[in-house]
Amino acid sequence: MEYTNMMELKFLSKSQNESFARTVVAAFAAQLDPTIEEIADIKTAVSEAVTNCIIHGYENKIGIITIKAFISGNKITIEVIDEGKGIDDIEKAMQPLFTTRLEEERAGMGFTVMQTFMDELEVESTPGKGTLVRMTKYIRSDK
Ligand code: ATP
Ligand code: MG
Repeated sequence: MEYTNMMELKFLSKSQNESFARTVVAAFAAQLDPTIEEIADIKTAVSEAVTNCIIHGYENKIGIITIKAFISGNKITIEVIDEGKGIDDIEKAMQPLFTTRLEEERAGMGFTVMQTFMDELEVESTPGKGTLVRMTKYIRSDK
């Protein structure tokens, strides 16, 4: 990957760290001079990905979540990585309304939200090894 700037952040999979994580990524993205809306989109997508690591990846046990972000031109690529349980069927998991946690009143809309608020979404996962969610957004692409 070619980039002009990058950052990496590691933190424990505690729900208190969710707002910390999205704020750090938003601060890093600020150098691209995004609109308020674009920043809100990035924060929402990062929150969904981090929540998934906490709830599904580590099943509320404590593990390490890594976020990497790369800037290239007007593009920001954000990777949210856990070393948790992984996803058996990625295609199925990414479908709107699919959740393995119906009993907890999850909507199954996290991946759909990430897809809607970001320009590209890729998921790599190995059962028993963990999951990497890669999201890309083009900032002020209309300018
Ligand atoms: P919501 O996000 O609406 O609260 P949800 O988390 O179930 O509900 P998605 O975020 O779309 O919905 O995720 C769909 C499914 O993919 C999850 O139910 C879970 O089975 C699986 N999944 C998502 N992220 C991970 C992850 N990091 N590790 C393991 N499984 C995951
Ligand atoms: Mg979710």
